Amino acid sequence: MADPAPGTAAPGFTGLGVSPGRAAGPVMTMAGPPVLPEPRPVLDAEAETAVVGKALETVAADLRRRSATARKRTSGDGGAAEILDALAMMADDPMLREEAEQGVRDGLDAAHALDSAFTRHREALAALGGYLGERAADLDDLKHRAVAGALGVPMPGLPAPGHPYVLLAEDLSPADTAGLGADVLALVTERGGPTSHTAILARGRGLPAVVACAGITGLADGTYISVDGTSGEIGVDVTEEEAARIRERDREERARLAATSGPGRTADGYPVKLLLNIGSAADLRPGGEGVGLFRTEFLFLDRKQAPSFAEQVTAYAEVFGQAAHVVVRTLDAGTDKPLPFLGLAPEHNPALGIRGLRVDRVLPGVLDTQLDAIAEAARQTGAEAWVMAPMVTTPAEAAGFAERARARGVHRVGVMIEVPAAALQADRILEYVDFLSIGTNDLSQYTFAADRQHAALADLLDPAQPALLRLVGACAEAGRAAGKPVGVCGEAAGDPVLAPVLAGLGVTSLSMAPVCVPAVRDALSRHTLEECRERARAATA
Ligand code: PEP
Ligand code: MG
Repeated sequence: MADPAPGTAAPGFTGLGVSPGRAAGPVMTMAGPPVLPEPRPVLDAEAETAVVGKALETVAADLRRRSATARKRTSGDGGAAEILDALAMMADDPMLREEAEQGVRDGLDAAHALDSAFTRHREALAALGGYLGERAADLDDLKHRAVAGALGVPMPGLPAPGHPYVLLAEDLSPADTAGLGADVLALVTERGGPTSHTAILARGRGLPAVVACAGITGLADGTYISVDGTSGEIGVDVTEEEAARIRERDREERARLAATSGPGRTADGYPVKLLLNIGSAADLRPGGEGVGLFRTEFLFLDRKQAPSFAEQVTAYAEVFGQAAHVVVRTLDAGTDKPLPFLGLAPEHNPALGIRGLRVDRVLPGVLDTQLDAIAEAARQTGAEAWVMAPMVTTPAEAAGFAERARARGVHRVGVMIEVPAAALQADRILEYVDFLSIGTNDLSQYTFAADRQHAALADLLDPAQPALLRLVGACAEAGRAAGKPVGVCGEAAGDPVLAPVLAGLGVTSLSMAPVCVPAVRDALSRHTLEECRERARAATA
């Protein structure tokens, strides 16, 4: 990394820009769990006991501070705040403290005494089963925090410095990303790929994000950086004034693009619907022509118990009530989107295992309850819900899903095309379903045999490659012949350079994170249909 001139934003790092927009501010790194060093002899038991007490008090105080912030953010809606308060009470538990202090009296240093007290409490809680048993995992988080405090290393988990910051992390899970507060200005991670679900969640929130940025977590907390979520460039050592100017310019650019409006059209008026990818009603924004991908699994990422039929009806009806046209995707669990409540067994090769529609092979009730809930929500709201299944591979699977969905009262049934075998048989699949939606994220992963999370394989995952575009073209052609819609809902649909190519290949809709709609609308409006087709011919050649 070059030494920047004082006060200038030197380009210090480059990663992959995965969520557009620019941001700047001080960084905070999300630390992983602390590593316990070898036990050390205790020379001063009183001092060691004080370290135990201080570590527990610091953990509880930090949780209370985060709870207060959560309460302010949600203006009184206590969900997250109550959980944090409950955790603070666990950290304050006098029995736990007494046990850790006893550990010191028995000769353990503070970190090991805390580790063993928490571990024993966890085992006792897990043995109780039921709701309390489920809370056992929370004690691991508390243990890591307390041990970090005793060792004097950064606390694991999302930082809560009490001011806006750029979050740096080795990697983030979808659950971490979903839990980010409004004080996060941008995300930069060492690992991750352009279509990883963390990138998708960042885009959904309109948060600039850069992934695969090697070395970024080496920056000291508090260093001011700038983040360009399109180019992937990170400037280091920007001044506070420069950071404020960058944020202001970002606001202006967002306002300029947001001023564009209307349905998707090429320059000569050929319609290509612009739809939204959402994970819940909270992601809905004005500007799209409906919802092209409602990723229902995002509603239940951190759930340890299956969501009930009634709860699902409420969540789906909330979206149906606010959007004219909604394509609901049935749960796409597995691989990088684990749903703990499903209790799926670990697999050696999860991306090629039980995920998406395949979960139905081992847990058939889950899909039926979801289809019933979608049909009921549609009845209650008068919406015409379109429903599609993820990870469909064969025409027989498509036929089976369509039959199940129609039998349970869903009228418009489609499937996602994410597996090359399904793309190659799109015409056969369309004999059974009403529409196709191409998931270019997984279709790239499986076509190029490259893990979508793998930072070093990002070039292979680029959806602009001819092999992928040919598969998209074949699906669009099958749709044209059958007179049925074929859209794209992978991240490629939100790329303003690729959107005219996809339109030229014949797709009828593009579904993307709401933040991407203005730039894609703008790009389409600059090319006639014939120009789009010309681009498509060049891109597939
Ligand atoms: C896709 O695979 O392109 C897609 C839209 O589904 P997800 O990204 O949720 O797997
Ligand atoms: Mg997918």
